[in-house]
Amino acid sequence: MSGPTLLLAETGPRGLQAASLETIGVARALAGEGPVVAVIFAGPSDTATAALAAAGADKVLCLRHPFLEEGRGAACAFVVAEIARELGVELLLVGGTPFGREVAGALATAWDALAATQVTEVRRTANGYSLKRPVFGGRASESLELAGPRVVLALRPNSFGGAPPTPRACAIEEHPVPTIPPALLPGTRVRVRPAESSAGPDLGTAPIVVAGGRGFKSPENFHLLEELAASLGAAAGASRAVTDAGWRPGSYQVGQTGRSVSPQLYIAVGISGAIQHLVGMMSSRVIVAINSDPNAPIFRVADYGIVGDLFAILPPLTKAIRTARGLPT
Ligand SMILES: Cc1cc2nc3c(=O)[nH]c(=O)nc-3n(C[C@H](O)[C@H](O)[C@H](O)COP(=O)(O)OP(=O)(O)OC[C@H]3O[C@@H](n4cnc5c(N)ncnc54)[C@H](O)[C@@H]3O)c2cc1C
Repeated sequence: MSGPTLLLAETGPRGLQAASLETIGVARALAGEGPVVAVIFAGPSDTATAALAAAGADKVLCLRHPFLEEGRGAACAFVVAEIARELGVELLLVGGTPFGREVAGALATAWDALAATQVTEVRRTANGYSLKRPVFGGRASESLELAGPRVVLALRPNSFGGAPPTPRACAIEEHPVPTIPPALLPGTRVRVRPAESSAGPDLGTAPIVVAGGRGFKSPENFHLLEELAASLGAAAGASRAVTDAGWRPGSYQVGQTGRSVSPQLYIAVGISGAIQHLVGMMSSRVIVAINSDPNAPIFRVADYGIVGDLFAILPPLTKAIRTARGLPT
């Protein structure tokens, strides 16, 4: 492989996205002894840049431009494609968040590359890359061979796991921003109103998700779910029945018309397991279902099931987890 392995890092309100840290580990494994260069739309002294440098990149290129920091997909793809050409890159990795998936698609055009999203496994071959990803809403897994010469991969969050590589001597450089064509900068963003979400980690990338359904009976009972989520440091999610009823905001919704999640652990509480819900969470690594109906479809995809009344199960479960984790009860 000629040129460095390039990765595009993403920042959010809480600093460097966990998906970007995971991407560094994969970049390092694929690069072998070759260099790993990260691009970040932040300043050299930002905490996200420091986190990136500490996680195993050989070089971090910092670019500052309001449109890039706003995450405008087409503009970001144009700039990253210019850098990839300049460095002679053949492989470019990005975390498979909504931003990463958008940029991966735009990069396929801007950089004239083969692109794949939702990648859960990847290895180098003599001719390029061999990879796997879920298809048909997680009901099947597809194996792909991508020969290159230019390849963009968006890695599905939480699919690769493992600790990030050990830090190396890392050069942090400011990189000039290529002139972005005006056509890629449409409109001026006047306001961003963050979606209401649970207090915990981001639903889309959290390693543990605890989701609740209509089995909670009313919004007043939903605190039981959020307490369980807090005990595990998990993100709280919900079925569409819950968000449609206004018990929780739409940003909680998991499924076909909500968020797709692939955590290490997904706990579905009082959720029946309709296909529209399953397609959003079926590729979670371990699925636990708590439901009073032993015939609920959720049990067909669950690795572990508890048949019973959530109102009897959740309080002692939360208490036991808090005790085991040394948290106040
Ligand atoms: C076009 C379209 C798109 C859709 N998109 C989505 C989507 O993105 N996400 C999504 O979730 N849905 C989606 N739906 C809706 C989906 O079909 C289901 O209606 C919805 O998922 C059901 O939510 P639920 O499981 O919470 O409720 P229900 O189906 O009513 O299930 C409630 C469950 O709680 C259990 N329960 C009841 N009491 C207790 C108790 N005390 N203890 C334990 N368990 C209990 C019951 O046994 C039952 O299994 C979509 C539908 C359509 C048509």
